[in-house]
Amino acid sequence: MNNRRNNSTNINRAAPLAEIESHRVQGSGAYWQQCVYGYLMDYRSLSVQSISSFINTRWRKRGHIEVFKMNDLYVFKCSDDEDKREMLAMTKACFDGALMVFSPWWPNQVPQTVRFRRAKFWIRICGLPCEYLNSHMAKTTGEMLGMPYEIDWEPNFVPRNDYLRICVMINLGEPLIPGFFLKLDDDAIIWIQLRYEHLFKYCTRCGRIGHKYTRCTRHEDLINLDVDHKMMEYLSRGIPTMEA
Ligand SMILES: [Zn+2]
Repeated sequence: MNNRRNNSTNINRAAPLAEIESHRVQGSGAYWQQCVYGYLMDYRSLSVQSISSFINTRWRKRGHIEVFKMNDLYVFKCSDDEDKREMLAMTKACFDGALMVFSPWWPNQVPQTVRFRRAKFWIRICGLPCEYLNSHMAKTTGEMLGMPYEIDWEPNFVPRNDYLRICVMINLGEPLIPGFFLKLDDDAIIWIQLRYEHLFKYCTRCGRIGHKYTRCTRHEDLINLDVDHKMMEYLSRGIPTMEA
């Protein structure tokens, strides 16, 4: 029983052992191979019909994408492999103001154990003095956020906006950071606001995705714990923190 996976609390009980020959699951495996899992990070539940009609009218896709639901999980079955690859590369999508995060299907994976850990966000770094609108500032912010990033920047670029843009892989299990303090070269300290593009429901009280401030039910102690944990993490990476 070397391959025994402990995904049941009754694993130590005596019970019959069933086995299905590999070729008996390959047919349905081919079906699931076309699928992407989706998890809606919102206090609402959207109907399969509304998501399907959104995809059919708004998405540029190569084939047909069929949507269905398994308990809390949405499943997107893509007839064209390129559509599937694109969804997984996007990591997330927005339906009617609600954030849906994607995860790939894997053989032998139990749906309840699918995890939606990270999603890619474009972030605007707002409130910078003009001379700070440069690639060094974008790079520093990306490194501070601590995850893989991409910068919307070209050499000899003339800024057209009063903000910088970076792409960051966000850990969905943690509260989002609303911004950071920046020490200028005259020693003044200013607040820099981060704006997450295409994120319409984000709580400015607890930092979590899926609800707004007015619907926040997270206990004050837990919010403080989240903040302490995050600040400890910055300090452990040698990044100073401060409180206003
Ligand atoms: Zn909240």
